[in-house]
Amino acid sequence: MTDTGKVLLVDDSQTARSAMKTALKGTFSHFVEADDGLTAIKAFVEEKPCFIITDIEMPSINGYKLISTIRAMEDGQNVPIIMISGTKQSLKNRLTGFNAGASDFIVKPYEDEELIARVKSLLRIHRLMEELKVKNTLLEKLAVTDELTGLNNRRHFFDAVKTQVSAGLRPQCKTACLLMDIDHFKKTNDTHGHAAGDEILRKMGRLLNSCKRDGELLARFGGEEFVICLFNTDSESALLAAERFRHLIKSYDFSSPLFPERQITVSVGVSIYTQALPVSIDDLIKTADKAMYQSKADGRDRVSIYEEFAPKAGA
Ligand code: GH3
Ligand code: MG
Ligand code: MG
Ligand code: MG
Repeated sequence: MTDTGKVLLVDDSQTARSAMKTALKGTFSHFVEADDGLTAIKAFVEEKPCFIITDIEMPSINGYKLISTIRAMEDGQNVPIIMISGTKQSLKNRLTGFNAGASDFIVKPYEDEELIARVKSLLRIHRLMEELKVKNTLLEKLAVTDELTGLNNRRHFFDAVKTQVSAGLRPQCKTACLLMDIDHFKKTNDTHGHAAGDEILRKMGRLLNSCKRDGELLARFGGEEFVICLFNTDSESALLAAERFRHLIKSYDFSSPLFPERQITVSVGVSIYTQALPVSIDDLIKTADKAMYQSKADGRDRVSIYEEFAPKAGA
């Protein structure tokens, strides 16, 4: 975390640093000083200032090298940096500074008001950029998250499975899909209300998330359907996993003031590629869906596997 009130002033002249401090005492609350580039890099890493003002001509590392070094650091990519030059710089020198990553350029002697105005302008842009970054992170999260349960959403599920199985990453892997659908959920909603239904879905999401194993990909597939993908598995393991989830849900106490009953059951459909085939996630889902409907037709609260993909003798 950068310190939002802290500025790093870099100049080999003590007088020049004092002048900057005086000009900026109303803008920053903390001043860190360095009299050469090397000390400045150390100060940047240790003090985490939110702003840098640097001279160009200095012993050891000059201003240009200082700026490019800071820009190469992860924490230094966005920090505003103003170069201050003691002499009238040629266009070539100014461009060198901008190419190194400087945000702005001021020539001495400068008016304090101009330095303050430029600093404030860069701080404003920086703050807006940071706000945008936070919003983008939130949007990215929202785009892949199911709002009600906080699990991966359907779209992210497809993307993530495709990433895992495509591009020849795991050409030989056996991928299994477990599709689970809550039994008679319409009745639950009708009897106890939509809020009770929502609460059950949230609890179901937490329960599945806490019991899935590393590498298993879980998502809310839609409505009252959840999906789990297992990679590098076989039919027996996939069926065991499906039974494990079914039992877990059946034995979990879902009761609450909204839902005075305690038990919820699911019907599960399992599909798996037991051969080293190019995997189509759409086919996996479709066949898992068929198997899930088989579980419904057979009386619910059970696991079925899609027959064409089921283990054959000697397979
Ligand atoms: P089955 O055992 O055959 O699956 O019966 P079902 O009642 O579960 O299946 P059906 O497809 O008829 O109904 C699904 C219900 O799930 C209807 C819908 O209101 C409910 N549902 C879907 N999404 C949500 C949700 O986000 N919140 C709540 N509370 N209910 C939901
Ligand atoms: Mg100098
Ligand atoms: Mg359904
Ligand atoms: Mg259902």
